[in-house]
Amino acid sequence: MLTSELIALEEQYGAHNYHPLDVVIERAAGAWVYDVEGRKYLDFLAAYSAVNQGHCHPAILKAFTDQAHRVTLTSRAFRNDQLPLLYKELHDITGYDMALPMNSGVEAVETALKAARKWGYTVKGIPANQAEIIVCSNNFHGRTITVVGFSSDQQYRSGFGPFAPGFIEVPFGDAEALRNAITPNTCAFLVEPIQGEAGVLIPPTGYLQQVESICREHNVLFMADEIQAGLGRTGRFFAHQHEDVTPDVVIIGKALSGGYYPVSAVLASRTILGVFHPGDHGSTFGGNPLACAVARAALRVIIDEDLAQRSADLGAHALARLQTMDSPILQHVRGRGLWLALELNTPARPYCEALKARGVLCKETHDTVIRLAPPLIIEKADLDWALDQIEAVIAPAPAQVQHAVLTH
Ligand SMILES: *Cc1c(COP(=O)(O)O)cnc(C)c1O
Repeated sequence: MLTSELIALEEQYGAHNYHPLDVVIERAAGAWVYDVEGRKYLDFLAAYSAVNQGHCHPAILKAFTDQAHRVTLTSRAFRNDQLPLLYKELHDITGYDMALPMNSGVEAVETALKAARKWGYTVKGIPANQAEIIVCSNNFHGRTITVVGFSSDQQYRSGFGPFAPGFIEVPFGDAEALRNAITPNTCAFLVEPIQGEAGVLIPPTGYLQQVESICREHNVLFMADEIQAGLGRTGRFFAHQHEDVTPDVVIIGKALSGGYYPVSAVLASRTILGVFHPGDHGSTFGGNPLACAVARAALRVIIDEDLAQRSADLGAHALARLQTMDSPILQHVRGRGLWLALELNTPARPYCEALKARGVLCKETHDTVIRLAPPLIIEKADLDWALDQIEAVIAPAPAQVQHAVLTH
């Protein structure tokens, strides 16, 4: 079927909760995707960092198909032979005592919120139903009613209330605001170490260290949402490692499956995850053997291929190139590893369309920001080719200059 026919079907029969670029992808390999017309594109979004390992990574594919032939779902009513191995490997890689597996990212966020509240009541001694969790302005933690209830984006909330109480917002990057918001009933502070959906916003140096010491001082759990920032994206395994801090709770998802399957998890100490007793929390698919086999392979790829270091090296190169680009519309460039943002002084969508026409797929975030997040396995030559396309698209327009000369 043609692009236009497939788009027409999607528009007619699907809910319109997204506004995708009109490219219909039918296959992908590594950093490249191919549309139904046979055109190829370099993927500069990587499914919001779910495919850090590259599309259809052969090692993850093998784990996926091997496990799919053995057993895919047992439910947690029974045990399976993959979950204990995933637990052990997560512990060995991250140092956290325990993990709790879920599926989508927001489910892991909800799980962390439940753990924090229960810890608040049973360990910290907060009076029943009084627990408060502090969150940041411009946060993105997913789309459930609880989570959009503490979003500062009006569109995410509008029409979906009433919302759960007990969430307090402070400005991102302002440690004093966090200190001032803490009360005896505060059980946790939830933060993205770098805010992705907000436009790759990097907090001031030292922020996470201050957050860590303020949380310790007040017996408040420091919870890092690493769903998009983690697993190599920023040039370290976890983005919070740039500041050498140890959050009490780390939430992971997205690249935990390398794009094969929704897999997420909450990592924490025994004191925190130990608040859950049989029946307190669960998920039919959470911790299923297919998800666990995929996650084990996806983690192994990140480590064996040293993707965090690759992200740091290629990201530094990309940032340096972007910083020298001459453009009347480019206001600001920022980035950590292969996670970069171009802040424009004009809506970004037409530039994403222009990049698509040149074979580079990226997506605007918050109107005027283009986020760049290619798979971390991208070849340097491909990265440079894409940067050439970006440079051409944002450059002072030669076509218009020529046109002006012609009409003189
Ligand atoms: C994507 C994302 C989520 C939500 O993950 P889903 O799998 O879409 O539910 C939560 N937090 C952050 C930081 C994210 O980037």
